[in-house]
Amino acid sequence: MGGKAGDKQCAEALGGDLPNWLAHYGFMVCIVDLKAEKGTDVIDEAIFGFIEKDVVAGSFEVIWCSTPAKAPDKEAKVLTDRTHDVLAAAWDQHRTWGLENPAADGDNPSLWEAPLIRRLAQLDRVVTVNFDRCRLGHATRGPTQLLVADHVNFLDLHGLTCNHSVNAHKEKASPTKQRGEYTPHLSQVVANALYQGYRLQSFEKEDL
Ligand SMILES: [Zn+2]
Repeated sequence: MGGKAGDKQCAEALGGDLPNWLAHYGFMVCIVDLKAEKGTDVIDEAIFGFIEKDVVAGSFEVIWCSTPAKAPDKEAKVLTDRTHDVLAAAWDQHRTWGLENPAADGDNPSLWEAPLIRRLAQLDRVVTVNFDRCRLGHATRGPTQLLVADHVNFLDLHGLTCNHSVNAHKEKASPTKQRGEYTPHLSQVVANALYQGYRLQSFEKEDL
């Protein structure tokens, strides 16, 4: 992880081209993901120890997490705890960070209901963003929630809800396959917001 800016993603193959967009904005991208070309398992205590040390040391300017919520119970708990730990460190350092997950639907276990994540959401300098993925070209509606540092501007995304016809999303895609996917449009929107947030934060640090 060299250079001025780095990026880290937790635990899930994002598909799409978010890493490419981040690289386009000049970030050195580090993908922490089982399904990445060079898979990284954050369940592994030793591996996570290295990652956490780097985050606490401030090696990452930008951190984006898309933690899978439906992993087997015990693993989900570990992933949730580690997502919290990494993001709490990023919050503490006034970094540019975000967490993306399906919006809670009341039926399935949701990351948003985990006590540690709720606590993170209640901190100051944190905002919640809600939108439907179909507005960014996704095949299914995909209600999604983000938790982000409040200097990351997702105002264009917030409140975008499905405006398609009743039958538009009738053909249900496999939830496991579709869930974590980032359409090119979503990748671009996320990368741009993170880049702008990073720039804003850099200027503010210069001003201190
Ligand atoms: Zn729609």
